[in-house]
Amino acid sequence: MNDHVTVLEISESAVLHNLHYFKKKLAPETKIMVVVKAFGYGSDAVEMAKIVQNEVAYFAVAYACEGVVLREAGIKTPILVLHPQMQNLAQIITYRLEPNLYNFKILERFLAIADEKVVMNYPVHIKFNTGLNRLGFWHTDVPAILAEIKRSNNVVIQSIFSHLAASEDLNEHEFNVQQINTFAYIVKQMYEHLDYEPMIHVLNTSGIVNYSQAQFDMVRLGIGLYGLGNDPKETAQLKNTTSLKSVISQINLVQPGETVGYNRAFVASSPTRSATIPIGHADGISRKLGNKNGFVIINNQPAPIIGNVCMDMIMVDVTKISCNEGDEVIVFNHQQHIEYMAHKCETIPYEILTSISQRIKRLVKK
Ligand SMILES: *Cc1c(COP(=O)(O)O)cnc(C)c1O
Repeated sequence: MNDHVTVLEISESAVLHNLHYFKKKLAPETKIMVVVKAFGYGSDAVEMAKIVQNEVAYFAVAYACEGVVLREAGIKTPILVLHPQMQNLAQIITYRLEPNLYNFKILERFLAIADEKVVMNYPVHIKFNTGLNRLGFWHTDVPAILAEIKRSNNVVIQSIFSHLAASEDLNEHEFNVQQINTFAYIVKQMYEHLDYEPMIHVLNTSGIVNYSQAQFDMVRLGIGLYGLGNDPKETAQLKNTTSLKSVISQINLVQPGETVGYNRAFVASSPTRSATIPIGHADGISRKLGNKNGFVIINNQPAPIIGNVCMDMIMVDVTKISCNEGDEVIVFNHQQHIEYMAHKCETIPYEILTSISQRIKRLVKK
């Protein structure tokens, strides 16, 4: 198995703390769909699912293959596949996954496959585009969707949903509210012409925080579960769920004028102790963090990354830190460190988390 010394520790208690934090913001009857796409935002989708499965109504993944992994790990909770492709529709039925049907091509193909496989009342979800302009039907498609669905008794609409374009951005308040209103109008039309009422949902993490009046039947919790709230006030209430840890492989004493790493990017101006750590840009440590833009923590002190980030290693300056080969290295164990890395990489914490490579071992701690 994977015996790499660099590990991503997942804190079960932190994940549950975060889940409960968002639960408390919601009405007791509002269901939670936990989003575990992209390996559970770079952590471990199966482990995340196992931690929360008894407390949530649904899981969401982006692609069918991610849902298959959950099913093969024994997860029984309903799973929404947000972005199914034509090629995976049969597999979706085989693994009892629930497709988001977001356009007529996918809807018609799914109805045909459901008919072929003679499934009855198969749960499907219909997504509407209300302004993100990514995936989803348009509000003008409602009559045609209803006509298609009613021609078949192979499927039943389990939920109708949409996605906000800027739920974390209060400058876009008006746009978000307009999306919610458009969505409510679409739902009203759908309800008028169906003899049952599918669940409805529109909020992601920042939606829960900023538009809780639109929680409807369910919310889709992603980044918040992992400890980041897209807002310092929210993040302060959340616990960090993943800690990236490694060890010092080697310490070198570098004399003035000598250099460290590829392209000799770091030049010692005074005697420098350099520690080599087994994690590199192939593991999600961006080259933008090289040359002292990023740091790790060794024995509670920051050690800046010196020179260029290599594919599998970084070198850090430990001149002022008392440490030895084999000592623990913390790449990050706090949301502020993840946010700092994101800032230095000109990105958002989502990308830092999802970039953590699969060769890094995952370890769940209580
Ligand atoms: C990823 C995703 C979410 C979760 O968003 P967060 O901001 O991480 O909470 C919710 N809904 C859809 C459609 C998504 O793609």
